[in-house]
Parts: sequence; structure tokens; C-alpha cells
Amino acid sequence: MGLGHLLMVTLTLLCTGLQAATALEWGYWGKYGPKSWPGMCTTGKKQSPIDIVTEDAIRIDLGALKFDRYDFAFSGTMINNGHTIQVQLHGVPIHLSGGSLPSIYILEQMHFHWSAEHTVDGLRDPLELHLVHYDNQYANFSEAAQHENGVVVVAVLFELNNYDNPDLIPILETTKMVSHWVGKSMIPIRSKLIPLLLLPKDHTTYYRYEGSLTTPGCQESVMWFVMTEKLLISETQVNVFKHVHSHNGTLKYNYRPKQELGDRQVYHRLDGYNSASSLYASSMICTIVNVLLVSLLHKNF
Ligand SMILES: [Zn+2]
Repeated sequence: MGLGHLLMVTLTLLCTGLQAATALEWGYWGKYGPKSWPGMCTTGKKQSPIDIVTEDAIRIDLGALKFDRYDFAFSGTMINNGHTIQVQLHGVPIHLSGGSLPSIYILEQMHFHWSAEHTVDGLRDPLELHLVHYDNQYANFSEAAQHENGVVVVAVLFELNNYDNPDLIPILETTKMVSHWVGKSMIPIRSKLIPLLLLPKDHTTYYRYEGSLTTPGCQESVMWFVMTEKLLISETQVNVFKHVHSHNGTLKYNYRPKQELGDRQVYHRLDGYNSASSLYASSMICTIVNVLLVSLLHKNF
């Protein structure tokens, strides 16, 4: 082996080692906390999460989201990757479209943040679910994440309540099982999951804005849909998430602090609320009044 070859092998090994270290070494506090996250996380201008100021959101009807096969029952697996617990569903693809989306998006995985990442008028809820989808014109999630509008995340906020949420029970049972198995294995979820039960009843009203992944590399390829209606969770249930372990101790929280909105707009989708259609309605009324006036004039003269 020549010196050049040896040097190359050494460098390759060193780089692989460094990459592995970077992949592991990010977290939510201390020296690997969000302030030291690399690349786009620091330099980006369309980062997530944000605080949604309801008064500033532009009200418009962007159309309802279409949740295709969300009402099917799926078998699923769960993994604790040291940053969150992540659920993957198996079987036929689950699709999201509508809501003025340019394509059909495939549900890739879902995971949780405790406390919530998106705040509404400064208020932070105890839990946020992210349903992560990617554009079906790309081969996979990683490829889609490199392209504008390649990823769509539907975010569901959970509000504190006195009673347990029964729809979370299968997920919580499995969370307890994987809480000490960081990055090790996929555990099957005992009962089947119906993703629709993890969406609020009204899934036609949402906030929408353009942003990024909320974990490194923070790619700015995400269209966010934050559901207006919240689901409920008890304190005991929130505590199950707070006992999940990371690579170094308990993952007591895993939310990224709020990012600057900058010159972005947040849209509030309200059914039937459309400036264009109200303009159309008022022009229709004008036409009717004109016709009436003309016919009155004809009669009198
Ligand atoms: Zn997330």
C-alpha cells in the first residue's frame, strides 16, 4: 500500500468517524443543544417551529386536506432513536393531498415532541404529533427533503386534560417498552393503529406556512399544516414521553425553540372563507341590482 493510499484510507476512516459522531451528537440542551446545530439550522431563513400569532394569520380558504386511507387499521412498529419515539405504519401507502398542495404526499412516519414545538399566541402545549409525508414523485423521504415543497408535515397539538386519551394507549404501551432501547430495534405495536384517530375531528381548519425540518439538517423543504383543533392528553400520559431515554440520560424534552418568522406569511384556512369568492358574490349582487334597476326603468318609461 503506497503512502497516498494509506493517507486516503486514514482520511476516509476519520471522516466516517466524524460523520457518525455528528449524527449522534445533537440534542436539545447543553453543548450539543439547538444553538450549536450545524448548517441550515443556523443559516436558514425559513426555519421551524414558529409561534403562530392568530391575529396576524391571513384568513383564506386554501381547500380541505384529503386524508386518503387514514381510516384504515395498520400494523405498526416503533423505534426510540434517541431524539424522539417514531412510529412507522406498514401495508398500503397512506396519502395526503388537497389543501392547494402541488402533488400527492406519502405518509413516511410519525413522531412526537414533548413539549409542543409550535406555540399559538405564545402558548406551549405539552405534546405535538408530527405526521411526516413526502412528495410521491421522489424515490424516498431523504431525496424529497432536498427539494422545495418535497415534504409536508401535519402537526397536531395536544392540550392537557384530566382524563387519559384512549386513542394514545397502544402508542404509550409501546413507548414504555422502547424507552430504554435507544436506536436499537423496531418494536411491533400490539394493536392496529387507525391514523385518523390521531387527527382532530375538524381536520379542515389549519394554519399553513413554509418552513423546515425541526431537527438537523433543518432542510427548508417543508410545508407545515398545524391543525387548529387540538386533541387531549392527561398528565400521566405526558409523563410516559418524559421518561424516554436518549443516548445520555432521560430525554426530558425534545422541542426546538421558536424560530424567526421573517418575511413569511401564515395562512389560516377557514372553510368557505375566500376573498376571491366574496368578491365574486358582491359582483353578482351588483349585477342583480343593475338588472332590477334596468327592468324598473323600462316599466316606468
Ligand atoms: Zn418533528
